Amino acid sequence: MSHSKEPPVVRCEGVTRTYSLGGAGRVFGRDKTAQTVTAVSSVSLSVRRGELVGVAGPSGSGKSTLLHLLAGLDVPTSGTVILDGEDTATKSERSRAQMRLQRVGIVFQHFYLLPALSARANVALPLIELGLSRNERKERATALLERVGLRDRISHKPGELSGGEQQRVAIARALSTDPNLLIADEPTGELDTETGASILDLFEDLTSECAVFVASHDKQTLDRMDRVVRLKDGKRIDTQHG
Ligand code: ADP
Ligand code: MG
Repeated sequence: MSHSKEPPVVRCEGVTRTYSLGGAGRVFGRDKTAQTVTAVSSVSLSVRRGELVGVAGPSGSGKSTLLHLLAGLDVPTSGTVILDGEDTATKSERSRAQMRLQRVGIVFQHFYLLPALSARANVALPLIELGLSRNERKERATALLERVGLRDRISHKPGELSGGEQQRVAIARALSTDPNLLIADEPTGELDTETGASILDLFEDLTSECAVFVASHDKQTLDRMDRVVRLKDGKRIDTQHG
């Protein structure tokens, strides 16, 4: 299905993110000059609904930083990120949090599930903030866990699930708020080949409802992407456009 006539879900233009290191101390009575690290440098790209896009590059090349910028978890030092038509840098911290809640689903490498809660309670958690009733939350979380193939794991706690199952719970949680953009940081990094492939099947399936952007340095994962943005030292080194 093509969604090429719709505006991109997320677009960034000339995005740079630098971090300051040290600089706070005084050395021999002089201010030590702060050093800066450029994590992402002049990156432009856009992602549309229907697309499964990868970001590749060695460790330290800026993949996670770029993901955080696209998700509105962070704002660029220069350049712009337009998420669902809105410039993330013009928003307050609070309204960016609201934007993320309503439009972005994020799957972190280490899942970040709450160990004391069941799979269903983990998935339902973001829905409390959206103001859904207890019954609505339960229904939606159950449907999502069924969708990711965990119908018979609903009451299990994260510690009672395999790595691949925990990853599925994390994906179901990211989908709970019906996002337009799904972002995943190294989603197959800790999974065996077969489990990783089934997670990719799921992502492919999800592109019918959202744009999916995946950071990875794993060839098997990148081979499944519609296209791949390649980073080196924070810069885009692929020759593709878009
Ligand atoms: P990747 O995900 O590709 O491994 P990152 O985006 O995590 O890369 O990091 C890119 C670069 O930015 C690295 O050199 C890293 O050390 C640096 N960096 C990332 N986050 C911070 C931070 N909060 N403070 C300082 N430097 C950072
Ligand atoms: Mg990373």
